[in-house]
Amino acid sequence: MKRLFSVAMALCISTALLAQQQTPGWKGKFEQLDQALPTPNSYRTGSGAPGPAYWQQRADYVINVEVDDKTQMLTGSETITYYNNSPEALRYLWLQLDQNIFGDQNMTDATETGVVGDSASVLVFGYMSGVRVSDYKGGYTIKAVKDAVGKALPYTINKTMMRVDLPAPLKTGEKFTFGVDWSYKEYDRQVFSGRGGYEFFPEDGNYVYTFAQWFPRMCVFDDFEGWQNKQFLGMGEFALTFGNYKVKITVPSDHIVGASGVLVNAKDVLSKTQLERYELAKKTTDKPVFIVTAEEAAQKEKTKATTKSTWEFSADNVRDFAFAHSRKFIWDAMAVKIGDKTPVAMSLYPKEGNPLWERESTKAIKNALEVYSERTIQYPYPVAYSVHTANQGMEYPMICFNGGRPNKDGSYSQQKLFDMVMVVVHEVGHNFFPMIINSDERQWTWMDEGLNTFLEKETMRVRYPALAGTRGTPKGIVPFMKGERSQMRPIMANSDDMRGQEFGPNGYTKPSAALTLLRETVMGPELFDKAFKEYAERWAFKHPKPADFFRSMEDASAVDLDWFWRGWFYTTDNVDVELDEVKWFKLKSETIDPEKKAVKAKQGDLNAKKDGKATDFGAGPEEFTLVNTPDQLYGEFKSRVDDNAVKQKLSNKNIYQLKFKNKGGLVTPLVIEWTYKDGSKEIERIPAEVWRINENEITKVFVKEKEVTNIVIDPNFELADVDVNNNAFPKKATESKVDQFKKNNN
Ligand SMILES: [Zn+2]
Repeated sequence: MKRLFSVAMALCISTALLAQQQTPGWKGKFEQLDQALPTPNSYRTGSGAPGPAYWQQRADYVINVEVDDKTQMLTGSETITYYNNSPEALRYLWLQLDQNIFGDQNMTDATETGVVGDSASVLVFGYMSGVRVSDYKGGYTIKAVKDAVGKALPYTINKTMMRVDLPAPLKTGEKFTFGVDWSYKEYDRQVFSGRGGYEFFPEDGNYVYTFAQWFPRMCVFDDFEGWQNKQFLGMGEFALTFGNYKVKITVPSDHIVGASGVLVNAKDVLSKTQLERYELAKKTTDKPVFIVTAEEAAQKEKTKATTKSTWEFSADNVRDFAFAHSRKFIWDAMAVKIGDKTPVAMSLYPKEGNPLWERESTKAIKNALEVYSERTIQYPYPVAYSVHTANQGMEYPMICFNGGRPNKDGSYSQQKLFDMVMVVVHEVGHNFFPMIINSDERQWTWMDEGLNTFLEKETMRVRYPALAGTRGTPKGIVPFMKGERSQMRPIMANSDDMRGQEFGPNGYTKPSAALTLLRETVMGPELFDKAFKEYAERWAFKHPKPADFFRSMEDASAVDLDWFWRGWFYTTDNVDVELDEVKWFKLKSETIDPEKKAVKAKQGDLNAKKDGKATDFGAGPEEFTLVNTPDQLYGEFKSRVDDNAVKQKLSNKNIYQLKFKNKGGLVTPLVIEWTYKDGSKEIERIPAEVWRINENEITKVFVKEKEVTNIVIDPNFELADVDVNNNAFPKKATESKVDQFKKNNN
């Protein structure tokens, strides 16, 4: 006991010394994330779940809006009822005026950079050389801000934000009702790209409208940062409060309207035939039913109604509201069985979308709803629209605007088919992230785009195996991750602070690749799927933050992932494992008395050396001997381990000593493919914790029955290893892997 005690004491002291030396600025790859994450509290717990005191605000909207088809003017008035569920009294409210990004005073124009002659982006963002070149004058005209009895409220506009001062502090548990009247001229999406806008079709003189960020919307006020009133610059999307909506949309009476909600006055706005088809679609689950056929839509294109219709929609527990309308719309719909619900999947598209859209859109909605519901929560809303627009992909609750337009003669490539299906799946998928699992997009693009791209990729893999490619996979992210790291920002960078070329990878495909690696290689599908679902269930209809995701994934799986989040989300390191050295041994049968012979490390070197290292197995194994366990190691024990039995276990085995170097910086699991002399193969998986003592270089011993002829690291490209040239032994085998890699990437 005395001796054991002293060893334990020594261990304690050395650990304490080590901790003292390493704590300041220690950035070990396995250092826990504690200091980087917010301290858990009663609002958000250390498990990653909403805490017992979690609260969130609510905003209900009643809106009347009219769109003028001649002038493209939108005129609206809204009544907002804001519920203060926070523990503090509020003296003012903040609203988002996103359309002001097109107004006179906006930070986007002021901070857009470029060089003279840099004109490539003029068509899609309205900028040339960083200078706005369109004559379009957008932005809100705020006509009135008033309380429930019509008395004007003081307000201050700061670019894309508006502060409304309250007549008296709004206390905890109280609500405040007020109104805003406004108008603005919608923009041409051909010039400004963007999330809404209109498209004009010169051949028939008609428009397709998609209205997004079209009304003054409440900012989020939460426990994490108070008001989220960071300016809208263009890239960082939205942070929004849940509430119920009643929206009346007035348009020319020959237009078809789709929106974030259920149509509540179908009998007022649809013809008798349309209404019958609409009712039939709600009960049909095998194929879409046409509510407006291509022929009927083509007929409508020829004339313009002079009367108006008002379409009324209702939506409960949504964070936003968008709508689309056109007289060009073909409309098909079918019911989708999701658990005990049958939401209606609907597509609206001009003839320019066909034949692709009538074939694939509603089917893609169905596939997305089914796969996402299985992996997260059951789709809770009664409808899901997919609207066809050119070169677009934008999501709102229950409705999204999607590109994927065939050539004029109706033909389309396999790539176009993939793009179209993928964008519908992706944007419908956004119903879950961030519309329901309501993250703050302005801060963290990855929390909605990354998680959503991951499930989009999973939907494509499961439902469209013939189309699915490498988008969002570890293999697909290699070209980005092998780029110049000093120029990159990590995934955790703010949405507006990334360069254009890294916004897509950092927001979408890198987090998706990381989650794929997590599912397939680090955690395994069973643990990953359980934990991912847990996160979704915990935060459905709430406001999660990054730590809530990181913590939930660990909490529900018993897998320590701090090293993973630290490396993949907070740094720009990449995975590059080098199989630096291979040695081969066989055990000699002779016994050595430890008292008589000093033990020396064996070399195990193989021949055909290059730079002092073997390049193949040609030289055969080196024999080595094992020393019997010395007496003093037994201490006070009376019995002895059977050294001969231990040696028996190892005799005739092939013993390989592999040295790995971490050249990319990210610690990673190892996937090793062993090829044996008889041609058989074995895949062996080593957890990333193999690097926990030495993050840069490790040596590990493997015992194999059969003789090995080839060793390849990451044979199936699941680790996102950016350089496969240093992944194999014998070295020559790498060439064929490179060829294979090139072939697979073409
Ligand atoms: Zn997206």
